[in-house]
Amino acid sequence: MAETTRPARRGLMLILSSPSGAGKSTLTRNLSQNENNLDLSISVTTRPRRPSEIDGVHYRFIDRGAFDAMRQHNDLLEWAEVHGNGYGTPRKEVEASLAAGRDVLFDIDWQGTQQIVKKARADVVTIFILPPSMAELRSRLVRRAEDAPEVIAKRLANARDEIARWSQYDYVIVNDDLTAAYDAIKAILTAERLKRSRAVGLGDFVDQLLAEEPA
Ligand code: 5GP
Repeated sequence: MAETTRPARRGLMLILSSPSGAGKSTLTRNLSQNENNLDLSISVTTRPRRPSEIDGVHYRFIDRGAFDAMRQHNDLLEWAEVHGNGYGTPRKEVEASLAAGRDVLFDIDWQGTQQIVKKARADVVTIFILPPSMAELRSRLVRRAEDAPEVIAKRLANARDEIARWSQYDYVIVNDDLTAAYDAIKAILTAERLKRSRAVGLGDFVDQLLAEEPA
């Protein structure tokens, strides 16, 4: 007897947002390294590279002229000004991943999240990561020691505006323990991947199942 064809699934877009220093970059990097079928979207930015960052891995670092050209040519799925720098998601890579049935992970702010949600609500899952306290957020930014004191001060001030957006997200996680936060995101991803509405051809699969002769 012919094998029943397993139903396929549309790729989903998993967005993580949080104020700088809430641990989101570590979480996105761990997820993209350990999870199957999940591609990390590498943003472009006009911000200067931090010493620990690698061009093409953490971001593609570009100048303002190149950023504006990408915007004008509609090469960015979304973009925003954050802390005085341009950040954006290159469109082509995301579309290629989704077309291949792969999921895409984004580390972007609330402005970019709103733009992607507006374009593709049904295929977007949004998670907001909160720090356990403002004191902890501050000490993580200082401990990272990769930004100048005035940059850290600006990021802390902006953190309040970012945190105020929490209620626009599907899920909220307080990151007081990196492993627990990671496990929570994995649970969300697993459940969202199984949603009936994301399956393609599920009706045909069930029809085939029901047409099978019992063994
Ligand atoms: P950082 O400079 O600390 O790497 O990032 C600053 C903020 O910009 C973070 O909240 C990060 O999520 C956000 N961000 C990074 N890439 C993008 C992007 O492509 N689009 C948008 N809208 N925000 C981004």
